[in-house]
Amino acid sequence: MSELIKILVVEDSAIVTKIIRHVINTEPNIEAHYAASFAEARTLVETLGDELFAALVDLNLPDAPDGEVVDYALKQGLPTIVLTGSFDDERREMLLSKGIVDYVGKEGRFSYSYAVNLVNRLYKNQQIKVLVVEDSDTSRRVICDMLTRHKYEVLSAVDGIDAIKVLLEHPDIKLLITDYNMPKMDGFELVQNIRVKYEKSDLIIIGLSAEGQGSLSAKFIKNGANDFLPKPFNHEEFYCRIMHNVESLELIEKIRDAANRDHLTAAYNRRYFFEQGEELYAHAKSTNKPLAAVVLDIDHFKRINDTYGHDGGDQVLVAFSQMLYETLGRFLVARAGGEEFFVLLAGIDNEKALSLIDRVRSIAASTPVELNGEEVFVTFSAGVSNVYCDNLDEQLNLADEHLYRAKEAGRNLVIGDDDDE
Ligand code: GH3
Ligand code: MG
Ligand code: MG
Ligand code: MG
Repeated sequence: MSELIKILVVEDSAIVTKIIRHVINTEPNIEAHYAASFAEARTLVETLGDELFAALVDLNLPDAPDGEVVDYALKQGLPTIVLTGSFDDERREMLLSKGIVDYVGKEGRFSYSYAVNLVNRLYKNQQIKVLVVEDSDTSRRVICDMLTRHKYEVLSAVDGIDAIKVLLEHPDIKLLITDYNMPKMDGFELVQNIRVKYEKSDLIIIGLSAEGQGSLSAKFIKNGANDFLPKPFNHEEFYCRIMHNVESLELIEKIRDAANRDHLTAAYNRRYFFEQGEELYAHAKSTNKPLAAVVLDIDHFKRINDTYGHDGGDQVLVAFSQMLYETLGRFLVARAGGEEFFVLLAGIDNEKALSLIDRVRSIAASTPVELNGEEVFVTFSAGVSNVYCDNLDEQLNLADEHLYRAKEAGRNLVIGDDDDE
């Protein structure tokens, strides 16, 4: 998601605009279009149309003294964040009930950073699936609308049984918001059911608890929910809690991903390869499907280090790994260590596996890596084994023996089980 996010900024104060520009210029993925009046804003919207993702608008402008530009932006379907010099509770409620995403006081750099972070958040939310489980039509609609306003992809279910059905159809749901009292299966039962399969760090569950049901919130959490939301909703609390939970989940995913990847090349690491590979291995074996293990090693890599330095060698490793992911990315690919990589080709028979790896070999051999303006050709040798062993490690050993023979035979070569000694 490195697409450019185009936003509209409407602000008449030159000083405020200057600070906003300064903040936005530090965000390479945001492209702001500035207007100093309602008239200019209208022209920009008419030119840019659907390209705009969100709007940051001033409440008071010379040609729109009473928030007219807010109504206009909302009418264009733009998620709207209001910039305001002063606001009281009444005005805040009025703005929120109109459907703005949030409001930000003009208190300097930090409040504008908050607004910019919010834009980024909204953009990312488009990739986040949320399931709302609530039997009351009205309440369900209100929650769904609130989430849609923050650009989440929203799904809904009317009771626990229905929710499980939707969850099975959409295993990539990241957040589930559930009522307690529902027919067929209540909120607690639903949470308990889900937690058999999904950890708190896989799927966020937020329980809804109405006023006067004090112990409900604690019970939700004890049953496996991550958090609870009090009903009736305070808009801001609703969004803050959801955002907070989504951000925690993203952080966990980031940490998890970092633990699974090699620092230099960002390829999967050895540990992750075995963790995933053992599962694929067991599955292939039990279903009697072919599976090829590949050990692949760059030829004369030491010479590259000697000629271009360790940094040059590192660059080659990064480019090489990228090439492997481009050509074999649909399979499990990992950096086993140094200049050695593992690939697991599940569901591919021996002949196909060999020809596939040989094709990658020829691509590597004919595609130069650019090192400080110089074209460097890097080859690799590989061993491929399709013979089932007791475990993945043993099959990799067979592949490694073939690799050794490929090196002996002169390198830039792929050897499989049936190749003559
Ligand atoms: P062969 O064709 O027989 O595989 O020869 P080779 O030179 O590729 O193999 P050898 O195992 O002798 O040397 C591998 C070298 O890779 C030695 C090591 O210093 C270097 N190396 C290992 N990890 C890294 C790394 O992360 N970055 C860089 N730049 N070099 C590394
Ligand atoms: Mg103003
Ligand atoms: Mg080598
Ligand atoms: Mg090696």
